[in-house]
Amino acid sequence: VGVAALVVRQRMKSSGRWARAMSILKEFEEKCGTPEGKLKQVADAMTVEMHAGLVSEGGSKLKMLISYVDNLPTGDEDGVFYALDLGGTNFRVLRVQLGGKEGGIVHQEFTEASIPPALMGGTSDALFDYIAEKLAKFVDEEEQMFHQPPGRQRELGFTFSFPVMQTSINSGTLIRWTKGFSINDTVGQDVVAELTNALKRKGVEMRVAALVNDTIGTLAGGRYTNNDVALAVILGTGTNAAYVERAQAIPKWHGPLPKSGEMVINMEWGNFRSSHLPLTEYDHALDVESLNPGEQIFEKLTSGMYLGEILRRVLLKMADEAFFFGGEVPAKLKIPFILRTPEMSAMHHDTSSDLRVVGNKLKDTLDISNTSLKMRRVVVELCNIVATRGARLAAAGILGMLKKMGRDTKSEGGGKTVIAMDGGLYEHYTEYSKCLEYTLNELLGEEAASTISVEHSNDGSGIGAALLAASHSLYLNEKSS
Ligand code: BGC
Ligand code: MG
Repeated sequence: VGVAALVVRQRMKSSGRWARAMSILKEFEEKCGTPEGKLKQVADAMTVEMHAGLVSEGGSKLKMLISYVDNLPTGDEDGVFYALDLGGTNFRVLRVQLGGKEGGIVHQEFTEASIPPALMGGTSDALFDYIAEKLAKFVDEEEQMFHQPPGRQRELGFTFSFPVMQTSINSGTLIRWTKGFSINDTVGQDVVAELTNALKRKGVEMRVAALVNDTIGTLAGGRYTNNDVALAVILGTGTNAAYVERAQAIPKWHGPLPKSGEMVINMEWGNFRSSHLPLTEYDHALDVESLNPGEQIFEKLTSGMYLGEILRRVLLKMADEAFFFGGEVPAKLKIPFILRTPEMSAMHHDTSSDLRVVGNKLKDTLDISNTSLKMRRVVVELCNIVATRGARLAAAGILGMLKKMGRDTKSEGGGKTVIAMDGGLYEHYTEYSKCLEYTLNELLGEEAASTISVEHSNDGSGIGAALLAASHSLYLNEKSS
């Protein structure tokens, strides 16, 4: 800090500091505003982009990826299937025993592991070797426990939660990484081949029968238990949505018309952007300094990886320009991504009269102590601004989808629409999910809202992948015989 700045710092009276902090807060709040009219514009823009993305590849920021899933689970699926779910921060391996009609899910086992951060930015082989090894170990343990006869073809549903250009139900190339991943040599590769090769290196016999995005898995898992499920939304580390489209409404699809007449679309809505989005200086800076500048703008406003980081950036500005935490800017506050969304959520949900959770979190995560109650209230206020904007925008995105599907008004037939929802942000950040559901009802109006419901599909994405592996393994067998 230069001498001049120090002098300014000392001269700025505490009342002046507070006024400056309040003006930063107010300005941020205004810029984050999401009145109903604006949300409707966002929803309409989403609908327009959906159309554009379906017309031609590259026709929109929304990729509207064809999933090759033209049939969702029926309940007839039968047998033992594995699933591998690679998403944001964790990955899971599952073994699901399906009992056919009436049987349902007879049995399921899973194991979960976090992905070592170093592997998220290393080489493709290192990542897939690590995953294959965990899978191999799991398969071994399970088969000993369940006395699986050796030699049987093992089938795997692979949930891979990144944008993939599918070439069939069980192949597809990675378009780009998102969230915290950045492994150059995977981009453009067939991720099923990457996994299959790693499995071979580990000596595991297994066929990838279905490659699916987590939204597609969630949609499939949701439909298995509820016939009214027609769309799926993930709000976790990243965000995305999928839905069932009429095949004839997809001009860019030149393949044979599916018997069902339907095709599931992975929207990749995280990459949505529109001039109607309320972007602030903090969002621009976050984007520019991110692993994927210019990409995933909607995701950067709404999802779990970024909410805490937005909050940190506002606090940093208040510390720097209004000496909010005293004369010095707390060193830790300068570290990107140090303030995670679970911590923000804990502060936002603090119900103690002296906001002691806020105090403790500031101390533990940022080394900031001796905050006044007044200051802690400001922090909660900021949490609320960031979470509310994200949740309301997510609701607007859902409205856009419902409009595209023609389900945003009450129909004559009295049909119901269920949205299968999953992801850590939705599951754990109660203020966020409450606000999302409230906003969706507000946007739809009472009558239409009565036909639409949100259902938490707990870890549906893994089970959904196993279900899709079940139906598609039959199809693959037919094709090869
Ligand atoms: C990815 C999507 C994924 C979503 C939720 C996004 O960053 O691009 O493919 O569905 O995160 O996991
Ligand atoms: Mg979950």
